Amino acid sequence: MRTWLQRLENALRRMMKGRYGSDRLGIVILAVSLVLLLIPYTWFPGLALGGWALFRMMSCNIVLRQAENRLFLEKTASVRMRAGQWAARMRNRKEYKYHRCAKCRALIRLKRGQGECKRKCPRCGQEYTIRT
Ligand SMILES: [Zn+2]
Repeated sequence: MRTWLQRLENALRRMMKGRYGSDRLGIVILAVSLVLLLIPYTWFPGLALGGWALFRMMSCNIVLRQAENRLFLEKTASVRMRAGQWAARMRNRKEYKYHRCAKCRALIRLKRGQGECKRKCPRCGQEYTIRT
């Protein structure tokens, strides 16, 4: 059993030697293709995207694949940052209250359970009273 798994692992290693493998763009393409494969009438774009993801993983042109991935990461940086901030807010929502400044829209984090307190926006200096 173990030798069979080791042989399979070695065969996969030999097959992937010099190939690009997976990256963030490849994982996103694969996820979108799997979702499209589950939706009726969208199986063809799903298959095409899956083929593209497989092509990228098996490609030997590593420099070009890295450039594609870098471009993807640059173009989605703001979306990924906002998603990360949202996830952090959701994770900490029981401990902190998040408040947007009415003047400059800065996001301010306040510890919960302090009652009604007066605060000053660190960006614009606007004073406000908030219940935490
Ligand atoms: Zn402000």
